[in-house]
Amino acid sequence: MKTILVTGGAGFIGSNFIKMILTKYPNYKIINVDSLTYAGNLENLKNVDKNDNYIFIKADIRDRKKIDEIFSSYDINSVVNFAAESHVDRSIEEPEIFLTTNVIGTQVLLDVAKEYWKVKPKDKYSKKYKEGVKFLQVSTDEVYGALGKTGMFVENMPLKPNSPYSASKASADMIVRSYHKTYGMPINITRCSNNYGPYQFPEKLIPLMINNCLKEKYLPVYGDGMQIRDWLHVSDHCSAINTVLHNGKEGEVYNIGGNNEKANIEIVKLIIQELGKSEDLIKYVKDRPGHDRRYAIDNKKITSELGWEPEYTFDQGMKETIQWYLNNTEWIENIVSGDYMNYYEDMYFNI
Ligand code: NAD
Repeated sequence: MKTILVTGGAGFIGSNFIKMILTKYPNYKIINVDSLTYAGNLENLKNVDKNDNYIFIKADIRDRKKIDEIFSSYDINSVVNFAAESHVDRSIEEPEIFLTTNVIGTQVLLDVAKEYWKVKPKDKYSKKYKEGVKFLQVSTDEVYGALGKTGMFVENMPLKPNSPYSASKASADMIVRSYHKTYGMPINITRCSNNYGPYQFPEKLIPLMINNCLKEKYLPVYGDGMQIRDWLHVSDHCSAINTVLHNGKEGEVYNIGGNNEKANIEIVKLIIQELGKSEDLIKYVKDRPGHDRRYAIDNKKITSELGWEPEYTFDQGMKETIQWYLNNTEWIENIVSGDYMNYYEDMYFNI
């Protein structure tokens, strides 16, 4: 039995990851630690709580005492750290929580994991071998900064983050790396491009546009809409994390992407077309400060060294995703209310 501590498992990617692992490995145990911020939603894990191999603990990754208690109660083999404040717009308004959760929270997890990380002698004649908690940090391509019209992000590029969100993720990556270099902890860092798919909080581009389109509300597009992102279906991201968790070489960073560069406006128009609405719904709004122009991921390292390949084409993934949101309007309605709506109105329509 392997026990994985998943943090942020009530969010978009973490919940998809938990479901994938529990289905794929009936002998694995998952402990999901999530503080349930506005983005954490246990509805994403409906039915999973019936699985005997799944435990949910409401806790903040910054709470050292609680994290320590969790490590002392379970024999944890690996940590997959999804927990984060993840929305760039919010980081521009309120950077502090991005630093405390994304940086300090990661450092608390590493520190506690280090205490439970054992070094056992293999036998009395051989060198020591390491066994214990593997730490996988789920990071983002945004840590590299922005690209011009050409070029791609590769793992050994310098990090040049441009938003408080990406700066906090880059800082966390460096702390994770330092625990490997300084203490020899077994770590991996994955840096993925933009995800889409079921259960994504409707403040992010694709679910926001689908939801607004369905209600025939304005579709707010930043600047000229020509910002390019490299899109990957969430289940392909999860399978890549799983590959790195099991086969990643200690201390290595792996980019994850599916070679799907699209301009934001292209995506918005595709959604309009799929839902049979009018392009008159598009409303260009003032661009986000420091908005990165283009991201593109070079995924050669993970494909050639670990044999991972994405399964979804963008067309198929988008069709399924739009259909998912059409079939799950209640899920969206439960979210798009109260505080979220106030925040949303402030963000896009008081400009
Ligand atoms: P999300 O915002 O949907 O989920 C984040 C989860 O973390 C939520 O459930 C929230 O409750 C939890 N959380 C936040 N602060 C916490 C804290 N202090 N303690 C415990 N739990 C806390 O985010 P997501 O889109 O699922 O992203 C997950 C991870 O993947 C993040 O680290 C993000 O940086 C990274 N990532 C996301 C994308 C993307 O396109 N969404 C791409 C690459 C990398």
